Amino acid sequence: MLCPHCGHGESKVIDSRDSKTATRRRRECSLCSLRYTTYEQVQSNVIAIVKRDGRREDFNKEKLMYSLKLACTKRPLPTGTLDKIVSDVESNIFKRGRSEISSKTIGEIVIRKLKEADRVAYIRYASVYKDFPDLETFKEELESAITDDIEEESEDSLQPTLFEFKNKDNK
Ligand SMILES: [Zn+2]
Repeated sequence: MLCPHCGHGESKVIDSRDSKTATRRRRECSLCSLRYTTYEQVQSNVIAIVKRDGRREDFNKEKLMYSLKLACTKRPLPTGTLDKIVSDVESNIFKRGRSEISSKTIGEIVIRKLKEADRVAYIRYASVYKDFPDLETFKEELESAITDDIEEESEDSLQPTLFEFKNKDNK
């Protein structure tokens, strides 16, 4: 940080205050004694998601939560399940220590977590976010999830909700 007045690089901190989003520091230039304020933010809050077409977008917890809520509409999930998934996904992303992550990788982490939590929500999410090469592959994935979960959900009850969800998302 350079002094805005003389460009000197050294300063002493006179006052430091933490807020939710940044630390505010009052500084005094050690050369010209001018006082100025800096704001420091935690860098790890900014992780770029690289999309399939190469565009970048900041990782956004609210957006992830929204897509999970859509996938879990009317599913009997215990309170706190989605918060847990979001924070698991987030810590998994930050643990990698990179400033970028592909949307595909995030999708796979989310899908793995959802599969443990709720099979129907998992299939709904996968139908939107996973890159199935063709309909056959999707059907296989769908069928294997249903066979694993046959006591809870029959194929008949799964199909309409899946369709409904896809329509909602395409709006
Ligand atoms: Zn200065």
